[in-house]
Amino acid sequence: MGLLDGKVAIVTGAGGGLGRCHALALVGEGAKVVVNDVGGARDGTGADTRMAQQVVDEIRAAGGEAAANYDSVATLDGAAGMVQTAVGAFGRVDIVVNNAGILRDKSILKMEEAMWDAVIAVHLKGTFAVTQAAVRQMVEQGQGGRIINTSSIAGLIGNFGQSNYGSAKAGIAGFTRVAAIEFAKHNITVNAIVPLAKTRMTAEIAAMPDDFTPEKISPLVVFLASDLSSSLTGRLFGAQGNHYSEFRYQISDGADTAENQWTPQEIASRIRDIMR
Ligand code: NAD
Repeated sequence: MGLLDGKVAIVTGAGGGLGRCHALALVGEGAKVVVNDVGGARDGTGADTRMAQQVVDEIRAAGGEAAANYDSVATLDGAAGMVQTAVGAFGRVDIVVNNAGILRDKSILKMEEAMWDAVIAVHLKGTFAVTQAAVRQMVEQGQGGRIINTSSIAGLIGNFGQSNYGSAKAGIAGFTRVAAIEFAKHNITVNAIVPLAKTRMTAEIAAMPDDFTPEKISPLVVFLASDLSSSLTGRLFGAQGNHYSEFRYQISDGADTAENQWTPQEIASRIRDIMR
């Protein structure tokens, strides 16, 4: 008996890195998986069907069920194609792991329009596009569902040279919270993971510990995909090596002015109260 017996999952960007590990872990708990990947380079250029196909072959060789899909997450047509692959191969969609991603790092003053647009399109629009297409299918099925998005410290905390990526990842955190509210009535939960792992995306980060393997992140994805997490939605879970945590927003107690409205001078004199 697996935690995900009878469930069908779509994992975007599952041809390598974290996505591949998530797909293998979901299959390990009994899910059937659509392995989506355009198979391009880290910066999103190029395309190759072999990345997704290799993971499908690996799953099948181990006795699991998987179907490949090579569409881009960055268009509504591509997202619809992924759902069609899932429904065509396995008859339904229960779980989506929005994981596909690219990097085009540059400091803000050197950032080019194409770098900004490409990163926002894959991460932020891609998360929206695949969620919309899959949730339409889930609503039709009427049996709830699970959406697991992928945010990043680069967006929630900030990182030099990643304004496009960080903005997209912070946007995904906001999208997760809005989608959790909108889909609650359909019994569809929406959460995000905030991972840190050694993959081709982080290959140049010398400080990344060797044991921060992508496999260590996937149990969190399986948990969020399963009935074990049914009471959790709109949450952001950190996963760095063996350390798991929750990212939360914090609002200070704040202060009120006793006057008709604040003045800049009163703000200056009471800024510590406002921030406390
Ligand atoms: P990765 O480069 O190995 O994986 C990303 C995958 O997405 C690749 O296989 C790529 O081909 C695929 N992809 C890119 N554009 C696509 C598109 N338009 N449609 C479909 N597939 C596409 O890197 P990774 O580290 O495994 O990253 C996975 C996710 O985790 C990304 O969203 C990334 O931003 C996020 N993330 C990773 C880390 C980390 O430490 N590795 C940290 C924070 C967030």
